[in-house]
Amino acid sequence: MSENQQLRIGIMGGTFDPIHFGHLITAEEVRVQFELDQVIFVPCGVPPHKKKYDLTDARHRHLMVELAVADNPHFTTSRMEIDRDGPAYTIDTMRTFRERFGDACQLYFITGADAILEMLTWRDNESLIELCRFVAATRPGYELSELDRRLGPRHRARIDPVSVPGIEISSTDIRRRVRQGKPIQYLTPSATVSYIRKHALYQQPE
Ligand code: NAP
Repeated sequence: MSENQQLRIGIMGGTFDPIHFGHLITAEEVRVQFELDQVIFVPCGVPPHKKKYDLTDARHRHLMVELAVADNPHFTTSRMEIDRDGPAYTIDTMRTFRERFGDACQLYFITGADAILEMLTWRDNESLIELCRFVAATRPGYELSELDRRLGPRHRARIDPVSVPGIEISSTDIRRRVRQGKPIQYLTPSATVSYIRKHALYQQPE
C-alpha cells in the first residue's frame, strides 16, 4: 500500500484485441507514477460504442490478457465486463469496483487518450467523473490541447495524461500483420503470439 495507507487501484480498460506491449508498458508506467497497489485489466465484452470490425470472442481476448499479465505480481484481470449481459458501460464497472474497495480507495480508470476524448458521450459520465480519476495514455508528442478543446473544464480536471514510450504499437496493426503473415514477435508477449497461432486468430478479413 502507498505511504499514506490509502489503497490505490488502477482499472485498465480496453478491448485488448489483442493485448500488446503498449498496453503493458502503459499499465506499468502508470502503476509506478501513481503509486498504485494493483492494476486490474478489464477487457470489455460488448463495447457500448460501435466497432468498425467484429471483435474477437471475449473468451480469447480475456485469456490472452491473463497470459500476458501473469509475470507481474501487481497485475490481475477481471471478467466483470465480459460476463455482463449487454453493453459494458464504464460507469457500471467503476461502481462495482467502488463497492468492492470502499469509499477511501483512490480509483484510476486507465485507457487510451483517443477513447477518453469521447468521454462526454459515455453513459452517466457526470457521475463517472465523481467515482474515479482518469489516466489518458498518450504517445510522446501528443497534442494535449485536444483534451482541453474536446472536454469541459470539470471533466478535464479529472484526467491525467501520461506519455508512454512504445505506445505506437497498436492492436489494429497486430491483427493486420497476422493476416499478412508478418511477424508480431516483440510487439506482444510470446505467450500471446503462441495463443494467436494456436487458435488461428486474425486470419479473416475485417
Ligand atoms: P478504442 O477506441 O478501441 O481505443 C482507442 C485508442 O486507445 C486506441 O489507440 C487503443 O489502442 C488505445 N487503447 C485502448 N485501451 C488502452 C489502454 N488500456 N491503454 C493504452 N491504450 C489503450 O477504445 P476502447 O478500447 O474501445 O475503449 C477504451 C475503454 O473505454 C474501454 O474500457 C471501454 O469500455 C471504455 N468505453 C466506455 C464507454 C461507455 O461507458 N459508454 C464508451 C466507450 C469506451 P489499441 O487499439 O492498440 O488498444
